[in-house]
Amino acid sequence: MIHLILFGPPGVGKGTQSQRIIQHFDLLHIASGDLLRIQIMNQSDLGIKAKLYMDKGELVPDEIVISMIESILSSLDGKNGVVFDGFPRTPPQAEALDGLLKSRGEEISALVALKVPKEELVKRLESRGLTSGRADDSSIKTIENRLKVYDNKTSPVIKHYSEQGKYHPVNGVGMIDDVSKRLIDIIEPIVEAI
Ligand code: AMP
Repeated sequence: MIHLILFGPPGVGKGTQSQRIIQHFDLLHIASGDLLRIQIMNQSDLGIKAKLYMDKGELVPDEIVISMIESILSSLDGKNGVVFDGFPRTPPQAEALDGLLKSRGEEISALVALKVPKEELVKRLESRGLTSGRADDSSIKTIENRLKVYDNKTSPVIKHYSEQGKYHPVNGVGMIDDVSKRLIDIIEPIVEAI
């Protein structure tokens, strides 16, 4: 099975590009942020807890996110694999994911990281905030915090997978179709080699 991590800071285009990748390779999309927002909408205990962190642009504690992903993975079937979007976001989450896959006799195939300069990310997040209704996109202070949290807590995940020889950076600037093509060109040979 193919297990891709589509990686990068908030606003880099992970959600949009995940849709393209899942269609092209017939994969399942697992987006931790979307799953958490569903929990908030349902006002579950998990959602109520997670919202406290999300509204401030902080990470939801590892154990909450990991157990959420674990339960999704256990119900996985019928596809060629998964695109993880927004997960893992810390080295302990990466270790947990490796462990969960290993127990199924599988592993991460590649971490593909989209790269966009910070000024452009801020612009994209501000304009998304005008239409998305997302509290975490609607204040510059929260946007800045999310980018700081990415640098401090999430970017070390790159090292984790580059040590496994699975890190592939991709330029995320430009038209959506052009970025999709770059991603597919990187992913295709990886998929063929599996
Ligand atoms: P996203 O939709 O991926 O931008 O995520 C929105 C928010 O959900 C993040 O700013 C975090 O507060 C929370 N979140 C999503 N995924 C994770 C994760 N893997 N670990 C911790 N918090 C997460």
